[in-house]
Amino acid sequence: MNAPLPVEVLKQHLIDPEICIRCNTCEETCPVDAITHDANNYVVDPDICNGCMACVPPCPTGSIDNWRLMLRNEAYSVQEQFGWEELPKEKALPQEAADDAAADDATGVDSGVATGAAPNAVSPAFSLPGASVPPWSAAHPYVNLYTHKAPMTATVVGNYRVTGADTESDIHHIVLDFGELPFPVLEGQSIGILPPGVDAQGRPHHARQYSLASPRDGERAGYNNLSLTVKRVTEDHGGAAAHGVCSNYLCDLAKNDTVQVIGPFGHTFLMPNHPRANLIMICTGTGSAPMRAMTERYRRRIDTGDNGRLMLFFGARTERELPYFGPLMKLPRDFIDINLALSREPGQPKRYVQDLIRERAAQVCELLGDRNTCIYVCGLKGMEVGVLDALREVTMQSGQDWSILHDVLRREGRLHFETY
Ligand code: FAD
Repeated sequence: MNAPLPVEVLKQHLIDPEICIRCNTCEETCPVDAITHDANNYVVDPDICNGCMACVPPCPTGSIDNWRLMLRNEAYSVQEQFGWEELPKEKALPQEAADDAAADDATGVDSGVATGAAPNAVSPAFSLPGASVPPWSAAHPYVNLYTHKAPMTATVVGNYRVTGADTESDIHHIVLDFGELPFPVLEGQSIGILPPGVDAQGRPHHARQYSLASPRDGERAGYNNLSLTVKRVTEDHGGAAAHGVCSNYLCDLAKNDTVQVIGPFGHTFLMPNHPRANLIMICTGTGSAPMRAMTERYRRRIDTGDNGRLMLFFGARTERELPYFGPLMKLPRDFIDINLALSREPGQPKRYVQDLIRERAAQVCELLGDRNTCIYVCGLKGMEVGVLDALREVTMQSGQDWSILHDVLRREGRLHFETY
């Protein structure tokens, strides 16, 4: 008699459409291109995903971490997942398949039942340019306290432009107040804003993410508020005219308007809390928001003597397009080492943040050699490669092996990227 064929069970990787904020992090992270999206949802292709988990730690919401035991021939297709508004309910497996899957889980042996990470899975720690863990002394963050189904209503208590009125770059500082309701946040986290109205398909707009520009104790210390740094999007990434739904909504808000907020999000791009921790901050444009939050955290405790060193590399086209230029330049030079890279300042050579990292190689290497140093990079997507190249170059010049240092920085949660 022939033995019955084993029933193939798949531990299908799914993304919860109700929590996902469509930030694209998972699609960018997936080393095998198993994640894709349409105008509605981000989804995982069951024929490609190998369960390597590389996408799970970077997801700011945790919506990526959903798994269903399915008969392989009944796995949800990409097309089906595109149509979902919520995850389907779990289905019971046929008894024989459920027994096989349970045996695999208990023994750790995979008898053809694909219920765990694939043997050739890529280590999540090494598939990302930055760390997937926070620094050891980071405070524990709250995430997903408010969701699409149950958002928080915040009140606008301030909204003003922080770039020169004569420049094309219209960036606003927006302060949101939460009244008596809890919205605990940490520097480096972000929130989601639900813009009112519907998209071209008649569905409510999805949430857009914005980094906090204020420290954990509020834009005004001791108040239940926070600030954002929002750039009005008037053209797409290719330079064609476009009207950004959420950024224009936010930049046009008036005092006392209310806004639907979800989050907070983010559990890795967090600052260290131990005494004498140094920060190297590298940013462009609105990527300055988390750097402002961290710098302000340090400034508020300047008298404690606990602060380490702050080194900032800040890129923009011109001084007048640098958000917060005035207040930044008033900070004492012995408090923060400011390096401005201007790419279109009349009469000056073009300089980018990576050029300044090279120019300040000695100081950067000195800080990199200190295990109390954490590095944060935030801003345009394109800056990742340039910054990594510059860090590699200055480290190698100082006689160190970048590949070893890079792995240490990632393992210890000391190198973080947030680009969009
Ligand atoms: P959409 O209506 O979504 O897009 C309109 C068009 O503009 C589309 O063609 C789109 O491709 C293009 N586009 C989208 N975003 C940009 C952009 N940034 N620049 C140029 N073209 C664009 N933005 C901030 O202003 N401040 C922040 O602190 C901030 N933090 C973020 C943190 C994270 C983790 C992420 C993932 C994103 C962050 N963003 C931030 C970007 C923000 O979430 C929105 O993507 C941005 O405001 C555009 O949204 P929109 O609704 O106005 O444009």
